[in-house]
Amino acid sequence: MASTASALANQLRDEFLTCSLCFSSYKNPKLLSCQHSFCRECLDRWIVSSKVKLLACPVCRKESVIPVNGAIGFSASILITNLLEYLRTNVKDERERKTGFLFQFGEKGSSDGQLYKPQSVAMVGKDRVIVADSKNRLQIFSRYGKYKDTITLSSLDKKCVPRCLAVATSTGEGVVYVSDMNNKRVWGCNLKGEIVKEIGKDNLSMPSG
Ligand SMILES: [Zn+2]
Ligand SMILES: [Zn+2]
Repeated sequence: MASTASALANQLRDEFLTCSLCFSSYKNPKLLSCQHSFCRECLDRWIVSSKVKLLACPVCRKESVIPVNGAIGFSASILITNLLEYLRTNVKDERERKTGFLFQFGEKGSSDGQLYKPQSVAMVGKDRVIVADSKNRLQIFSRYGKYKDTITLSSLDKKCVPRCLAVATSTGEGVVYVSDMNNKRVWGCNLKGEIVKEIGKDNLSMPSG
């Protein structure tokens, strides 16, 4: 069991210290005039053209004036940076003293965010965990177990029975490889559930690893 302190630290990370553009811990957090924060790099990617003068906040749509030098010119979110540093130090201390699980998550059930006989797990990047369970679905969680999304593989012959996952990543976005016993093949899908690769066409017998 996680101690109250480290469970609280993880909750804080999930609720307040995760950038809603990259779903990761803030890196170089910058503050928009609406008081929402995002990573500097994420904002730079969000600013599509240097000709645009206003940035609509990805969360609340309020507009902020883009500094002449781009996202780096927004004020730093000092509170977020300090909080992350504070938690990093404390949770690290906590983990060094402990043996056993660093953390665990999940409760039994069929709703979004619940797990029913989980089958396999894979990480995408450092901050997302994909879990295949016996309800034939892939769910995305933060590394601390906060439910984010469900990947539904569309356009399949039969209902996908995902068994084993592997992830190939480049620039943080992953291709999730899923072995599917029911359709007798291996799928590569992106995080939206769109199939980008298909290995075997009914000629793999019960792929499960
Ligand atoms: Zn970000
Ligand atoms: Zn905002």
